[in-house]
Amino acid sequence: MSRILIIEDEEAIADLEKDYLELSDFEVHIENNGEDGLKEALDNDYDLIVLDLMLPGLDGFEVCKRLREKKDVPILMVSARKDDIDKIRGLGLGADDYMTKPFSPSELVARVKAHLSRYERLVSAGQKQNDVIEIRGLKIDKTARRVWIDGEEKAFTTKEFDLLTFLAENPNHVFSKEELFRKIWNMDSIGDIATVTVHIKKIREKVEYDTSNPQYIETIWGVGYRFKA
Ligand code: CA
Repeated sequence: MSRILIIEDEEAIADLEKDYLELSDFEVHIENNGEDGLKEALDNDYDLIVLDLMLPGLDGFEVCKRLREKKDVPILMVSARKDDIDKIRGLGLGADDYMTKPFSPSELVARVKAHLSRYERLVSAGQKQNDVIEIRGLKIDKTARRVWIDGEEKAFTTKEFDLLTFLAENPNHVFSKEELFRKIWNMDSIGDIATVTVHIKKIREKVEYDTSNPQYIETIWGVGYRFKA
């Protein structure tokens, strides 16, 4: 459940916002002045802060500025003042959005939801992504060592996977069987290079629609193989 902090000195407005947000399953806490609101926001983990601009004592600008120095929680600023200078000042201080009073409680809920989903996307985008190669219908997840063709997962042995991945990472480059053997099997080229031919055949059976007319791994007669990008 997402936690929302409302910093608002007008009790009726704060209660209305709280009611609507709670109806949408948010957990809501209210502080009615800037000092307490800032302290509450700094001491606890909220998912979003609804911050009124005109507050007694520490105003919304100052709360926003001080909060931003410490946390990147989304801040939705609310004010009765309509002029754009306030708006720019508000945004310049690191607020994520700005609403002018009066607004409908359902608009507040919609904005809160939009910001939370945007914030979650940003946070998840910052997480380490798997290293994925996608070429037409072929998808290779290098991190998970998994392969899909048109969304259907195919089982690959270690060497088949290494060979396909190496070719796909070097598209339009012709490699001889000897080169591939050295790269993938990590041995002298005096080894059995027929192994390469066998593995290419097995890979084609998994990734090609028509193995006699390969779309991914082409045979370059007398030379070797090339991955078609
Ligand atoms: Ca106020």
